[in-house]
Amino acid sequence: MAYDGESAASLIARLNEELREAEPKAIVQAAIDLMGERLALVSSFGAESAVLLHMAARLKPDIPVLFLDTGMLFGQTLDYRKRLAARLGLTDVRDLRPQFQDLAVHDPSADLWKTDTETCCHIRKVLPLDRALAEFDGWVTGRKRFQGGERLRLKVAELSEGRIKFNPLANWSKEQLDAYAAEHDLPAHPLVEFGYPSIGCWPCTAPVEEGDDTRAGRWAGSEKTECGIHLERATPAVEVGGDI
Ligand code: SF4
Repeated sequence: MAYDGESAASLIARLNEELREAEPKAIVQAAIDLMGERLALVSSFGAESAVLLHMAARLKPDIPVLFLDTGMLFGQTLDYRKRLAARLGLTDVRDLRPQFQDLAVHDPSADLWKTDTETCCHIRKVLPLDRALAEFDGWVTGRKRFQGGERLRLKVAELSEGRIKFNPLANWSKEQLDAYAAEHDLPAHPLVEFGYPSIGCWPCTAPVEEGDDTRAGRWAGSEKTECGIHLERATPAVEVGGDI
């Protein structure tokens, strides 16, 4: 599907008008109806991922699920990704890994996160996702407004890098997510009980205090709040993907 600027903007406006108060499952269904095989779902298999994955699995178990295996994830996340995918019957979960060349050039000691989190996220998350999304016209995310920060203004549909991004859970509260997970007996990520309400790479994720924002433990102590996959692309900070 190709979009010119104006028709894409009009489509996004119509989707937001029609789906503004729709239930998440109806939004996932609308995304599938509109995009068919050109739709993917991006999941971290993190603290709240089971809800959206369960909805999608019930509607289209072979939906491509893109999972960013950065090489820096907790072992518990890798284990949860396998167990949850099998439990939900998802048949096309794709593990996206950073390119060897990018790691060899920019992060040969696997400690770039200590000095340059932007470049580290760029080569371990942004670029692998961009490569995988090349075959899709739209994707589904699990972001919610209650997560705060930039996400407070989140809409159900957005245009991002020429693709439609659907956010079916944008309107839902934490209580609604928890109620859905309980109703369907969905297994929690094993780190949730240890105080991790949002879970990414181990070097950049910390447990939070009671009452903190759910994402307060991500890049704690720095200004960074997003890894970059949900930000409009600027010129890459580094030359990547070259021969070594
Ligand atoms: S979250 Fe941290 S370890 Fe993971 S890619 Fe970003 S900077 Fe690197």
